[in-house]
Amino acid sequence: MEHLEGASAAERALIDRASAQKIPINGSIELLPLCNMNCDMCYVRLSREEMERQGRLRTAEEWLAVARQMRDAGTLFLLLTGGEPLIYPEFKPLYLALRELGFLITINTNGTLIDEDWAAFFGQHKPRRINVTLYGADEQAYASLCHYPDGFARVTRGVSLLREQGVEVKLAISLTPQNAGDLDRLFAIGAQVGTPVYVDTYMVPAERERSLPFNQQARLSPEEAARKRVRSFLLTGGSQKLLEFSARHLAMIRQMPKPQLPNRMTCLAGSCSFTINWQGQMRPCVVMSSPAADVFEMGFDAAWQHIRKEADDIILSETCAACPLRALCCTCAASALLETGRYDGVPEYMCRYTKETYRLLTAFCMREMKRRRDTGKDEGE
Ligand code: SF4
Ligand code: SF4
Ligand code: SF4
Repeated sequence: MEHLEGASAAERALIDRASAQKIPINGSIELLPLCNMNCDMCYVRLSREEMERQGRLRTAEEWLAVARQMRDAGTLFLLLTGGEPLIYPEFKPLYLALRELGFLITINTNGTLIDEDWAAFFGQHKPRRINVTLYGADEQAYASLCHYPDGFARVTRGVSLLREQGVEVKLAISLTPQNAGDLDRLFAIGAQVGTPVYVDTYMVPAERERSLPFNQQARLSPEEAARKRVRSFLLTGGSQKLLEFSARHLAMIRQMPKPQLPNRMTCLAGSCSFTINWQGQMRPCVVMSSPAADVFEMGFDAAWQHIRKEADDIILSETCAACPLRALCCTCAASALLETGRYDGVPEYMCRYTKETYRLLTAFCMREMKRRRDTGKDEGE
């Protein structure tokens, strides 16, 4: 749901109402699994041969037939993603037709293909926003992680071209052991090109790693991920915003309300949000592989009713429902299932990640309050 980050108050109100009424206001379409890059941690990309063994790309006309049904069902926010969506053969005519239908479109791209032509196209037909994923702070990161030399120069140039055309851009960063040391530099690049930065420090485990101890997985240890999470908060909002965030969450933890049982999903997935993959499988969110329903076979409405009902039947852990730290915890149906194999499991990685976040925020609050008392100044250096 990260493409709804930064939604305005009016958009939020629409989303809340849609969630209460189970209207699928928010959706994403993965147009294709192909990509010009080949990142080590990618769980989507297929080679053309692999893709052709599994199926074919849907045409723009096929997607538009589904999109008309989506619009009639109440979808307003639409994310186009991939693979790399800009290499979808009919991207431009499809994008223009979707805009005509009234969708507010966000695009996820790796940004390396954006040249003057693409920037002028998006400048003339503005999306709601373009999310550009930044994989590292230099060419070395792009060569070693994405096997795409020149990737860094291409993506920073692409972002600058979009900004010159007045297109809203956000840099999205997923922290891995390979780029975690670059966190401050990644924020500095965001400031340089004039775009906000969104950092994801929690990665679900790759399938092949689920039985390995955390220190043998290709993601940060839970404690290191928590340290980067708090650092990202600080780099995003400064010490005043971090102090406010910490104080608010620590108060919520102290005054934790009684658990609501049964513990059902509370995110937007399957409540007013869905995703459709390149083969037409609708799911509650990109991380969940089930429940699923085929939109091309069943039609949009029937597929939505199916995943909505199935998502509503998912019951999460009672331990999590009663946990005092849940205001700070990002556990959810997808993470519980992928970390523990059960929707009602308690993910150990998430517990450690949350406890360390809590410890760091508490320490930050105490340090910052003392510093302010001692210096009489609100903002730190
Ligand atoms: S850019 Fe994205 S879709 Fe392409 S290989 Fe990398 S992670 Fe996968
Ligand atoms: S289930 Fe988890 S990953 Fe999926 S949308 Fe909800 S919070 Fe996000
Ligand atoms: S995953 Fe752990 S920290 Fe998070 S709510 Fe459940 S018990 Fe609490």
